[in-house]
Amino acid sequence: MKIELIWIFVILLCLHCTTYEQDKNTKMMGDSSENKIIKSNQEWKKLLTPMQYHVTREKGTEIAFSGKYDNFFEKGNYYCVACGSELFSSDKKYNSGCGWPAFYDKAKKNNIKEYSDTSHGMVRTEVTCARCGAHLGHLFNDGPKPTGLRYCINSEAMRFCPVR
Ligand code: FE
Repeated sequence: MKIELIWIFVILLCLHCTTYEQDKNTKMMGDSSENKIIKSNQEWKKLLTPMQYHVTREKGTEIAFSGKYDNFFEKGNYYCVACGSELFSSDKKYNSGCGWPAFYDKAKKNNIKEYSDTSHGMVRTEVTCARCGAHLGHLFNDGPKPTGLRYCINSEAMRFCPVR
């Protein structure tokens, strides 16, 4: 009888711990997804052109030297084509010669997320929009001073707004 009571106590304790963990995880997800934009693939397809969708939602890459912002140096800001979040500024754009728009720094620290990407037999750092998760491009360590970074970004993932 005593052993049975101990088992019941252990089972109740485990159930309590599981519920507590679930609550904690739910809360953490809620906190981190504040201001986040979550849409289904069908919803994104309605909002984006086929190429914008391919790049941002399927981690596609536009053909080198084909993007509208590759050889483009007007003064202004670059926003996420999917959600409008501010990503880069023309102040930090430079001509890397790599075939895609290149920036040596991001506009706002928290608007871009970086992930390890081991696809296509390479080890790279993927860059995404923190708000909507859009794939933007990759980050390399061969950029100019002062950061030494090169954010290599698809034109299709951005929308430019001039500063007058
Ligand atoms: Fe976005």
